[in-house]
Amino acid sequence: MSAPIIALDGLLVRYGKFTALHGVDAIFSGGSLGLLGPNGAGKSTMLRSILGLVRPTAGTAQVLGVDARKSGTELRRRIGYMPERDAYIGGFSAVRGLAHLAEICGFPKDDAMLRAHDVLHFVGLGEERYREVSTFSTGMRQRYKLAAALVHDPEVLFLDEPTNGLDPQSRARMLGLIERITKDHGLHLVLASHLLHDVERLCQEVWVMEGGKMRLSGSISDLTAAARGARRVTIANDQGAAFHAAAEAAGFACSREGDGRSFVVHHEDRVVEPDEIFRLAQNNQMVITSIRPAARSLEDAFLEVLEGE
Ligand code: ADP
Repeated sequence: MSAPIIALDGLLVRYGKFTALHGVDAIFSGGSLGLLGPNGAGKSTMLRSILGLVRPTAGTAQVLGVDARKSGTELRRRIGYMPERDAYIGGFSAVRGLAHLAEICGFPKDDAMLRAHDVLHFVGLGEERYREVSTFSTGMRQRYKLAAALVHDPEVLFLDEPTNGLDPQSRARMLGLIERITKDHGLHLVLASHLLHDVERLCQEVWVMEGGKMRLSGSISDLTAAARGARRVTIANDQGAAFHAAAEAAGFACSREGDGRSFVVHHEDRVVEPDEIFRLAQNNQMVITSIRPAARSLEDAFLEVLEGE
């Protein structure tokens, strides 16, 4: 059996007296993983200890079965890391900087240059390849950082807040690129972000961090499944309380939302069909104004966990 992509075993990191990670255990077997949590949750610290850039106080972090503390060089060849902050060599053109990185990772000079051209073309910087990176716009620098994480053909890609500071158009472009990398090129992805929508779009699995602890982990489809088969029903004015009572009497679980006219109606062991809601309303002389599927969003699951205490 091949090693998991990431295995954390009691990973504990202290900065002086401050504990940034409180002994985290987790396994990521492959595909794409979103690392979510508010600022200060410990996401970067976790990424940096996985990559061997921060020394754990206790416990271990392995990637592809390799402990970064023991085999940092091997690991850096097999993974790509896009840090949150700007990262480029001053005075170098885009293509020269990337070829340099590929050479450091063991590519012969000519191959390194070819890889640099290819990957700049892939991120849409082909025409700008001879420009100094310091003259790039924010969006271009983010795409350059992505190219730098890919140039040595890694197996796993780690991205730290890749859409930070981007306008909507650049953000859409960056998300599209990441999607192609994972879907078309089959790389495993670990994406640290505080943007739920980015994670929901790109990842199958999430780890939710808060205060240096793992608060929730699992597949996004499981986390959003709680309300699957449920319906969000809106009823005419003044009939909310009566509808609530009638739905419960008919054996549905019914929870009221906001204005008192909207309800999430579900059944423990089956899908709620719109027809039965219409029949229920008809039998009780009520008027339904809308029925929609009521899938729980990742945001609902996330807020539930973070507000749970
Ligand atoms: P996130 O990436 O989720 O925003 P970080 O891992 O950057 O979280 O930070 C977690 C906590 O650790 C924060 O409270 C931060 O201030 C603290 N921290 C991060 N890096 C250092 C450091 N080098 N020295 C001291 N404290 C740090």
